[in-house]
Amino acid sequence: MELVVLGSGGWVPTPKRATTSMALRVGDDLWLFDAGTGLARLGEPGFRHLIPKTGIIHLWLSHLHLDHTVGLTFMTALWRNLTVIHVPASASTQFGPEVLDRLVAPPFFPHRLSEFEVEVRVEFLDPEGGPVRTAGSAVTVSAREQTHAGGSLGFRVGDALAFLTDTAYDPGAVSFVRGVQVLVHEAWAREEHGAEETRASLKGHTSAEDAARVARDAGAGELLLSHLPPLRDDAYYEEMLERARAIHPRTALCEDGLTRSL
Ligand SMILES: [Zn+2]
Ligand SMILES: [Zn+2]
Repeated sequence: MELVVLGSGGWVPTPKRATTSMALRVGDDLWLFDAGTGLARLGEPGFRHLIPKTGIIHLWLSHLHLDHTVGLTFMTALWRNLTVIHVPASASTQFGPEVLDRLVAPPFFPHRLSEFEVEVRVEFLDPEGGPVRTAGSAVTVSAREQTHAGGSLGFRVGDALAFLTDTAYDPGAVSFVRGVQVLVHEAWAREEHGAEETRASLKGHTSAEDAARVARDAGAGELLLSHLPPLRDDAYYEEMLERARAIHPRTALCEDGLTRSL
């Protein structure tokens, strides 16, 4: 499998970092985790090859905040493949699969998903339902509920990849991602005035240091810090990286376009 970072930022897209989206080639299919503005990269020459000729596109949504979903409206500009959207269901989300018809519908967008030129199926993903295996795929996806405003899901793809974004620091995630080859984890800040005070101030997000603690405690291979804060500069990101590496040495910053073979 090949992992390609399409969008490595959170909240606001910047010239260097689109908002969150990760691409994973799985056999003949393309799996996408979140649909932030990074999804638009699939229209760029360096990324277009990721779209399969005939395979299915599976889009796994961690949650419905716009920095993770605005790309749903880009789809027909990018591909014609059958698309399955996996919408999170959990005790903390008070909606059903029809929620996307509120998000992608007039007056906010001219068409509903059911009217797209792309055939779109929407499935509800219940983290209690156990691992999901898509047709023809050798790997499974597991989901786990996280603490975030409105709820969110973390994902694990076999032993290859875990994708935890928009979540408060959660030691309970350690067993979920144990031994995974690559852990993509959000990092929304660096610690100021100690871990506890930072956790209290971040409200539904994680510091770089805490992301590294999860990676270390889980024995993850490499940690990739993502969903980086858009109002900071490179010096701040480097400081986040340095502090995370002091805890989990095999750590890198996500950049749009970064790839890993899994
Ligand atoms: Zn976000
Ligand atoms: Zn969010």
